[in-house]
Amino acid sequence: MEKRDYYEILGVSKNADAQAIKKAYRKLAMKHHPDKNPDDPEAEDRFKELGEAYEVLSDDQKRAAYDRYGHSAFSQGTGPSAGGGFSGDPFDIFREVFGGGGGRGGGASIFEDFFGGGGGGRRGDGKQRGSDLRYDLPIDLEDVVKGVEKEINIERLVPCESCTGTGAQGGKPDLRSCSTCGGVGQVITSRGFFQVQQPCPACRGAGESLSNPCPKCDGEGRKEGTSRIKLKIPAGIGDGNRLRSSSSGDTGVRGGPAGDLYVVVHVKPHDIFERDESDLYCEVPLAFSTAALGGEMVVPTMEGKASVKVPAGTQTNTSFRLRDKGVPDVRTGRKGDLFVNVNVEVPVKLSKDQEKKLQNFTDTLTEKNTPMRESFFEKAKRFFTT
Ligand SMILES: [Zn+2]
Ligand SMILES: [Zn+2]
Repeated sequence: MEKRDYYEILGVSKNADAQAIKKAYRKLAMKHHPDKNPDDPEAEDRFKELGEAYEVLSDDQKRAAYDRYGHSAFSQGTGPSAGGGFSGDPFDIFREVFGGGGGRGGGASIFEDFFGGGGGGRRGDGKQRGSDLRYDLPIDLEDVVKGVEKEINIERLVPCESCTGTGAQGGKPDLRSCSTCGGVGQVITSRGFFQVQQPCPACRGAGESLSNPCPKCDGEGRKEGTSRIKLKIPAGIGDGNRLRSSSSGDTGVRGGPAGDLYVVVHVKPHDIFERDESDLYCEVPLAFSTAALGGEMVVPTMEGKASVKVPAGTQTNTSFRLRDKGVPDVRTGRKGDLFVNVNVEVPVKLSKDQEKKLQNFTDTLTEKNTPMRESFFEKAKRFFTT
């Protein structure tokens, strides 16, 4: 299928500003949402196409790449590096390990020396990087607005305290050339007619073995434990964003570098507010008398109550914009806006007296009180003549 132009998909001009693009997207996304078009099998494709167009055009860097190179900016291998990668980058965050699983602070500090080193493979001394771990962290929208510090308990391999993570009894590794493989790290076994080369099972391919393995951890230098980790969640973080806490993953083998911990943030749905990047949206019921007469409307914001002046004659679905009452941008800290959409509430369960008063009032209405009705019936007139 031929890819359509992103501007065409959103129905905006090439020089539309960010606000116009966002507005066009919201409108079309609502219209083409698959839930609203259950009988239209193409709705889902259109919805996806829309999301893709918005993802590119709402990002300055990607948009610039698209303007220059078109769709080829994002196809495999041909685009400039600026356009690549649709995944959010992980932010490195502040962390603190509070002596996990009974391990002493000293155990953890040993590994600090190996930050960034090694990166996985086996070394002659049997050191090996620990595994990366993942933790799913649900947070509230309130926490997104202000930023928050969270402490989590994470099950991970922690340094063995009796050998201070070295894997060697007494903390001093005594490495000997492995007798099983003669120090080569590989052994050759015969299977039928074939000879197969395999990592040596005795030294696990290292070529050297520990003659004094720590009995508590079988020479691994680590054991199962729990660490309490402090995470600093930056304000404005997005749902699904990934934070990296360096070296908070599994402790490495025999003093190898620790893996990293990836914290995937899940922003819980909010009772009142809906978030779209830095902006918040909320629906507020408005008494029909206030809508007609005008007045003050109290609305919720993430920082407490705020008052909005409602002009006389406010119709349902009117949106009021409260500047800087949204969510801060995770990078710039610039706050978005809060959009309050009013739903005029028609009163229910009227008493006899209220009914009478409303009827009296209704009898006084003239054409100029209901311009929407008038213009609609003016247009619809021809349908009533037959
Ligand atoms: Zn040990
Ligand atoms: Zn060996």
